[in-house]
Amino acid sequence: MNRRAILKGALGGVLGLTLPPFARSAFSQESPAVVPVSEGFVMLTGAGGNVLVRTASTGQVLVDSGAAAFTDAVLAHLRKLPGGGRVTTLFNTHWHRDQVGGNLAFGRSEATIIAHEKTRARLATDYYLQDEDRYEKALPAAAHPTVTFFTGNKTLAGNERIEYGHLLQAHTDGDIYVFFRDANVLAAGDAISPLKDPVLDWFGGGWLGGRVDAQEKLLKLSNAETRIVPSYGPVVGRGELQAEFDMTRVLFDRMLEFVRKGMSAQDMLDAGLMKGLSRTFRDPFKFVYDAHKGYWAHHNALARDLL
Ligand SMILES: [Zn+2]
Repeated sequence: MNRRAILKGALGGVLGLTLPPFARSAFSQESPAVVPVSEGFVMLTGAGGNVLVRTASTGQVLVDSGAAAFTDAVLAHLRKLPGGGRVTTLFNTHWHRDQVGGNLAFGRSEATIIAHEKTRARLATDYYLQDEDRYEKALPAAAHPTVTFFTGNKTLAGNERIEYGHLLQAHTDGDIYVFFRDANVLAAGDAISPLKDPVLDWFGGGWLGGRVDAQEKLLKLSNAETRIVPSYGPVVGRGELQAEFDMTRVLFDRMLEFVRKGMSAQDMLDAGLMKGLSRTFRDPFKFVYDAHKGYWAHHNALARDLL
């Protein structure tokens, strides 16, 4: 550990006790780091959301572009990796700003940007953020996805098989996975959350039922050797994905019964919704509130004979 790292660690320890959470995360995210994933793949962490990089002398392929504040740092890292920063293709796993902040830079340098059509639509217009009671401004045209799709699974033409597909309402209304089948590396976006509390952007179209289906789909795509890359947190394996799916399924089933009984989010917590889960949540109420809201948008799908 060099002097700067020691200093940073010591400062982090001291500041960690006194700063509010947003300042702490800003501090820890001040410089993206390169984390190996598997041969030919690295992940840039601490750039807002994770950025997965397929390095190759013929050009780099990215999954997500990080938050705008980190674009310069991301570009500096990419220049040092095989491919020298020439990005041919960029996928956006969804439209949240931690995932699309670098789009403008890569779009201007003529990378093909692939995403779900909802992601393009969200980025092309101002949209309302219910949590913050404000509008997020549309991004400039060069930052918009250039190749979009609505449903199903696609394969990118080329020497290696790069498959991608829709994860219907797993976290937002525009989630996709990207599966590098030959390398067995699966980018899952925010449809899995191995470290942070799972986030359901209910106002942006995410809901717990979609998350159950999405995680089941990811399980089907993966095997014991698959390296699975989330939007936040470390690379995981199929075992961790299975554990998260099992938890999501339990939450979905319990909440379904509680919704049918007309319970509020607080009622559900009081009735033991989170009891005995494989992990604890930092903010259980926020998760349950958002998940509950999502059920209201799917009331027509909650009848006993439909599920
Ligand atoms: Zn997100």
